[in-house]
Amino acid sequence: MTERLYRADPYLLEFEARVRARTEHEGRPALVLDRTAFYAESGGQPWDTGTLRAGPHVWRVVAVVEAEEGARHVVEPQAPVPTPLPDEGATVSGVVDAERRRDHRQQHHGQHLLSRAFVETARARTVSFHLGARECTVDLDREVNAAQVAAAVRRANEVVWEARPVSVRVVSRAEAATLGLAVPDEAGDAVRLVNAEGFDLQPCGGTHPRSTAEVGVVLALGHERHKSGSRVRFACGLRAVALAEEQQSLLRAAGALLSTGPEGVPEAVARALEQLAEAGRRVRVLQEQSIDGEALRMLAEAGAPAGPCVITRVVDGWDASLLRLLATRLTDRAGVVALLATRGETVQLVFARSEDLVLDVGALLQETLRPLGGRGGGRGRVAQGGCPAAAGLEDALARAAAAARP
Ligand SMILES: [Zn+2]
Repeated sequence: MTERLYRADPYLLEFEARVRARTEHEGRPALVLDRTAFYAESGGQPWDTGTLRAGPHVWRVVAVVEAEEGARHVVEPQAPVPTPLPDEGATVSGVVDAERRRDHRQQHHGQHLLSRAFVETARARTVSFHLGARECTVDLDREVNAAQVAAAVRRANEVVWEARPVSVRVVSRAEAATLGLAVPDEAGDAVRLVNAEGFDLQPCGGTHPRSTAEVGVVLALGHERHKSGSRVRFACGLRAVALAEEQQSLLRAAGALLSTGPEGVPEAVARALEQLAEAGRRVRVLQEQSIDGEALRMLAEAGAPAGPCVITRVVDGWDASLLRLLATRLTDRAGVVALLATRGETVQLVFARSEDLVLDVGALLQETLRPLGGRGGGRGRVAQGGCPAAAGLEDALARAAAAARP
């Protein structure tokens, strides 16, 4: 097995170790060491990264995973030069990426505080934790609302700002049980406890800070229903600051487009949406007027007939509702059958007849669409349908016109 130096000192970034085995992990070279300061992924906390040096050769540690034989350090050469893997028994020196380790200390300890705060403020227990590349999440066993999230975040931040000492101790499983702690089976007989003084005591193998103050700040990013409880998204420390800056800059950019500052964005967006809706209503009125004109033109083209007539028309890119409106306008007068189609991503058809005619436009539409692989129907004066493509459309309409002619 591998001795885990990070358990005793989560601030240790440099160490020396011996190679116990050269191995592979999912097809990539890996080293098992007799001791390591690299955290191996577990308990929702991702692995550390960094470097391992053996003589003149430097390897990047790109993943650290738990295996039966110990912690596997998955490595790749730092530079594109021949880099032989160190032999078994060789000494290597490791350097853990400091920023990533600090980030993980902030997120993971922030999670402990937030989870405890949810127990206090909402009696909600954490059933799982995920430390993602961008955000962290905790899944709670009961649903929480926005006010409960705000209360828990407030409480967690208070504990951060109180700068309570954080300590680690190892107890037996029996002793952990007397403290009322639920210890996962994989923890074994020696249970490592992380204590945020006077606030939270948890079995945990992660890397935690010396003081709650190091978490910096706990920021909620949102919450949603998840299974029978809630999933709360959050970020702590420098990550929270970076996310807040990112959101500020998005708001500034949105504000610039709307000629206002970040605070004015919601009101300006509401105003712009109202203007857009009003413009849409005006466009609709103009479209209807233009449809009226179009109907008159088409009837004139058909010779403004005194007797019954069939009008066929294919247009491009119309909304089906406008096509329906045109069909209604054309058939408002006596003796007209309108067979209309619009070509866009798909083809839409509207067949209509005047009140005084007896044609079954629904049946005619179905018959017309069948060879085109489309479907449609309707009862009474108007029928509507569609087909996937325009090939054969003109011929089909010509046949329909012939069938409809009185
Ligand atoms: Zn933990």
